[in-house]
Amino acid sequence: MQQDRIQIPDSVRIAMKTLRREGYEVYLIGGCVRDHLMHVRPHDFDLTTDATPEEMMAVFADYKVIETGIRHGTLTVIVNSMPIEITTYRVDGAYEDNRHPTSVSFTRNLREDAARRDFTMNAIAMDVDGNVRDSFGGCSDIEARLIRAVGDPDVRFEEDALRILRGLRFAAVLGFEIEEATSSALRRKAALLNSISAERIREELFKLICGRYAGQIISGYTDVLGVVLPELLTMKGFDQKNRHHCYDVLTHSLIAMENLSPKPYLRLAGLLHDVGKPRCFTQDASGEGHFYGHAEESEAICDAILSRLKVDSLTKKRVLTLVKYHDVPIAAEEKSARRYLAKLGEENLFDLCLLKRADNLAQSAEWRCRQSEIDALEACIRKVVADGECFSMHSMALSGNDLIALGVPPGKRLGELLRIAFDAVLEGSCENDKDALIGMLKAKKHL
Ligand code: ATP
Ligand code: MG
Repeated sequence: MQQDRIQIPDSVRIAMKTLRREGYEVYLIGGCVRDHLMHVRPHDFDLTTDATPEEMMAVFADYKVIETGIRHGTLTVIVNSMPIEITTYRVDGAYEDNRHPTSVSFTRNLREDAARRDFTMNAIAMDVDGNVRDSFGGCSDIEARLIRAVGDPDVRFEEDALRILRGLRFAAVLGFEIEEATSSALRRKAALLNSISAERIREELFKLICGRYAGQIISGYTDVLGVVLPELLTMKGFDQKNRHHCYDVLTHSLIAMENLSPKPYLRLAGLLHDVGKPRCFTQDASGEGHFYGHAEESEAICDAILSRLKVDSLTKKRVLTLVKYHDVPIAAEEKSARRYLAKLGEENLFDLCLLKRADNLAQSAEWRCRQSEIDALEACIRKVVADGECFSMHSMALSGNDLIALGVPPGKRLGELLRIAFDAVLEGSCENDKDALIGMLKAKKHL
């Protein structure tokens, strides 16, 4: 089968032609072929070849070669400063503990290499001219928008349980159905995800939640995802019994998540901002549900989840800040804009507005009118920022050195005086001007 010509970067083409010139087979394989067949621009180009690593070293003797993956048959060749990963056709030996093959061996047979790959759509090979080698029906599955395991799905998920999460990830990103036998095996084998490292889980989970169809997949496969995120199971079906809410906690959270742009930290904040609600649930005499303190509870649970997933500290800090403040009312006034700019910083505060917006869009229709309040708040923050107003100690017109020059000794008292001056600026009760601030401190007998 000949496809429309694949757009391959020159460096990849050079690497492929170099191997071919020496008599070896070489194919593009995996995500890049799948993306090309779906008319999506590939983001990386994995190559597979019948040349052994030693043979590749000889072919690319004039190039810089990085040998980090050599034990598994992968070499990285630098062509015109672009790193290109090339892997020898491989057969995985028996698997231990649902994640690692005990050995890998090389083969000269492309079909055997394709057979070790996870899904049919990821097992299609394409040569430099666009000729396709499709041993497992990947092309027709792509056409039918189906995710199907290569071979027996139960066996494949037992070999490497991460494939369970990868299957859900591809479904969430591509909007494909998961073929029936693959789907039921994926549920049957879900518990095996317990043997997968936090780092591998996190990587797939982040891609999954950023998928366009993430909400659908998380709600359809909560039982499977519950193995890595048991907190979702408590959220599912939890009736809020509150007039602001027409959805259970999980559905509400998923709608909020989908209303946020596909960046992992924003999506995590959307998914988890109410994770503490079930623990905080109370009902008043009229039967109305309340969740006092749920933002702090959610923050604590989130902290535990993100630590468990070994999430990097910046992402974690951002998510926790957003979750902690998601429900705090912030008036659309310059005074509060300045206060929260000082407290959270510009980036977090704009992100918080996004979360508030998404959260509100996931409530009962009659409460969604809050959007205009959030518009007003955003406009206010933008104005304070654009006017270059002071919302950090550093940009205050009065400094520690100014106070020292006035005879205040360095130490705790000096810090207190700066804080008093800063509060006055944030409040708007004193202009951000050195003399005005000194005058105010004197008038209040602080100096
Ligand atoms: P992406 O667009 O996210 O890069 P991808 O399909 O390229 O998707 P990678 O993780 O880059 O995914 O893997 C490259 C290829 O390696 C896959 O297409 C698949 O053929 C194979 N592969 C990756 N992980 C596994 C696995 N756990 N089990 C079997 N095959 C795998
Ligand atoms: Mg890839």
